Amino acid sequence: MLGDKLLEVRNLRMYFRAAGSGFGKGSAKAVDDISFSVEKGQTFGLVGESGCGKTTTGKCILRMNKPTSGHIFYKGQDLATMTDSQLKPIRRQIQLIFQDPYGSFDPRQSAGAILKDAITGDGKRRTRMEIDAEVSRYLELVELLPSMADRYPHELSGGQRQRLGIARALACNPELIVCDEPVSALDVSIQAQIINLFEDLKAKLGLTYIFIAHDIAVVRHIADVIAVMYLGHIVEIMDAKHIFANPIHPYTKYLLAAIPAADHAEERERNGILPNDDIPRPGNAPSGCPFHPRCAHAAESCRQHRPELRDLGYGHFVACHMATASDAMDK
Ligand code: SF4
Repeated sequence: MLGDKLLEVRNLRMYFRAAGSGFGKGSAKAVDDISFSVEKGQTFGLVGESGCGKTTTGKCILRMNKPTSGHIFYKGQDLATMTDSQLKPIRRQIQLIFQDPYGSFDPRQSAGAILKDAITGDGKRRTRMEIDAEVSRYLELVELLPSMADRYPHELSGGQRQRLGIARALACNPELIVCDEPVSALDVSIQAQIINLFEDLKAKLGLTYIFIAHDIAVVRHIADVIAVMYLGHIVEIMDAKHIFANPIHPYTKYLLAAIPAADHAEERERNGILPNDDIPRPGNAPSGCPFHPRCAHAAESCRQHRPELRDLGYGHFVACHMATASDAMDK
């Protein structure tokens, strides 16, 4: 059920030290002062090009990275400042699904053994029969046959391995799952099956997802809310069903224009994108609006001042000096 806030990220920063420098000047600002919240039962899409900071954001939420500053409130507790021992009871509640889970499986373990480890990680006593029954249940939940418990990861197809990765995450009984490019390595036909599986599982188990992807078309299919990231900043947050009807930030328009064909110069210019595709790196972000070198609407103020993410109404937040409340219409 939507309505309860499960996660609140506030002023999160994750800076990585560049070789031979301290923090501050010379550090790579992978994530630079982002804030958003995720409601229980929601699918929150995080989208942007490679290097925009979306995966780093996910790793901070999972506390695989300790943030440079900021807060990550999960059910009111600040994960950003917790010690490893304080995090231990929470870790099973927030799980990760990888782009290609193959590297995260022990190739010497069968699917059944992988799931058994995840199931028994909570330390509760179970009989052998109870564990086997749970292994079968999790395989069936992801639409694999219970007989596949005897197979090894290399004996599974890419789609079956991703289903096993999802089953392993579910076996920890999570509330929040961070899905990092979970379908990008799969064939298009399999992608649709896995997206449908995510939706079915959410309905059955009341899960909450943070769905990270570079492909806005994929995110749009599954997300309730979409946040667009560029060079470590969130530049737009909106209801996913409005994304085609009413994108406001020029970068969001660029991502949408890139969906049907990779490179239509006219279409991109119509959407306010300069042909310059020389994307700055996080360690070398431009002053002012980070998008200004690529934006056809850039004015002098854009080069000088970084736009704040502003609430324009109807749940639509935009970081652009030119955006006005009248742009955010209720469609
Ligand atoms: Fe373009 Fe200026 Fe808006 Fe940045 S603030 S997206 S440069 S118009």
